[in-house]
Amino acid sequence: MRPIETSAPARYLHPELETMPREQLRALQLRRLRDTIENAYANVPTVRRRMEAAGVRGRDLRTIDDVGLLPFTLKSDLRDHYPFGLFARPVGELARLHASSGTTGKSTVVGYTAQDLDQWADLMARSFHAAGARRGDVVHNAYGYGLFTGGLGAHYGAERLGAVVVPVSGGATERQVTLMQDFGATVLCSTPSYALAIAEAAEHQGIDLRMGKLRVGLFGAEPWSAAMRTEIEARIGLKAVDIYGLSEIMGPGVACECEHRDGLHGWEDHFLFEVIDPETGKPVPEGEAGELVITTLTKQALPMIRYRTRDITRITTAPCDCGRTHARILRITGRNDDMLIIRGVNVYPSQVEAVIVGRPQLAPHYQLVVTREGVLDEVQVEVEAQPGVDRATYNGLARELAHAVKVQCGISTRVTVLDPGAVARSQGKAVRVRDLRKKEA
Ligand SMILES: [Zn+2]
Repeated sequence: MRPIETSAPARYLHPELETMPREQLRALQLRRLRDTIENAYANVPTVRRRMEAAGVRGRDLRTIDDVGLLPFTLKSDLRDHYPFGLFARPVGELARLHASSGTTGKSTVVGYTAQDLDQWADLMARSFHAAGARRGDVVHNAYGYGLFTGGLGAHYGAERLGAVVVPVSGGATERQVTLMQDFGATVLCSTPSYALAIAEAAEHQGIDLRMGKLRVGLFGAEPWSAAMRTEIEARIGLKAVDIYGLSEIMGPGVACECEHRDGLHGWEDHFLFEVIDPETGKPVPEGEAGELVITTLTKQALPMIRYRTRDITRITTAPCDCGRTHARILRITGRNDDMLIIRGVNVYPSQVEAVIVGRPQLAPHYQLVVTREGVLDEVQVEVEAQPGVDRATYNGLARELAHAVKVQCGISTRVTVLDPGAVARSQGKAVRVRDLRKKEA
């Protein structure tokens, strides 16, 4: 007998958890925080030493705000304890390992028990659902598969939701377009920069993706601007949703926008979020910008205590129109590591991006090249013209863009407008900055 189909699809995937009253959510967090601390204390010698030095145990935590008593964990801690030194379970008890590409020195390795993987799939499915994906959707997953958590994280989440997954991974962009068309993709997962590379490949092939079945896109793994969102939606014809995650904490699905897209709901039943002043390490008042710090509340293999993400953002616990009670992380402006300090002015690449994307003659493909001439920093913006734009106008476009960047971002730049296709396309995370100053050090 077929199940009776309801006319309105369920609003939440996990109704009781997603709409739990905040009081109750805080109590759940405190219970789980204590368990997490005890797990780390008992099984991770480095954590035990640090907690003993700080004179604190899990049972000392009376309220959730007492999390501030605990020491921070840094990305360098993972590298220093390469590969498994921060794990709370022997490797033989794990179900999977992932690792980040180590551009500088050793990579960071993360591990999962079978239960960790199960919860990850649940949270990623919850994120898909919040974004508007449903059972039966065809999910074209262009996140990279492999050691990077993006591909497999989205994969198992989509399966958990009951969607049909196309595990295409990144690369071979022209073929991606064909597969999306032929398989009738309704949901696209990729980095925002790669979504634009796909859009461009489709346009080259004379295919209008807006006429296809795509409905929702989950884009993450790199900061992107509101202007970029508008551009992606206009060229691909879908609702672009921001999703957040990092492998040190879990992978994609730590937070995701709902249909209102007014901040990303951080899944507080599994994570504790704080925003701190990156200089002093003290919490900032709610709504003020600072560095996002995350503590895992249910991870067995790699419990993370007060992990400093380097991501700069703000958090609000104000009620969302969707009815979910979980706090919202306002869109990530940038990563502390990506922030450029140019002659004393702080600038994120996404701020320059927002200026570029608003200009119809310019394509949203760019790189910032930073050099030091003498004692002064110089920024060169390399950006492409849209196809069909007269080369004779390049110099004028460059001058206009330099002026707009000066006005909106407060830095002087030298702009070069290049022919279409001249800026290297991302196959995953885009490289927005080439900082040539660091080589001198
Ligand atoms: Zn919401």
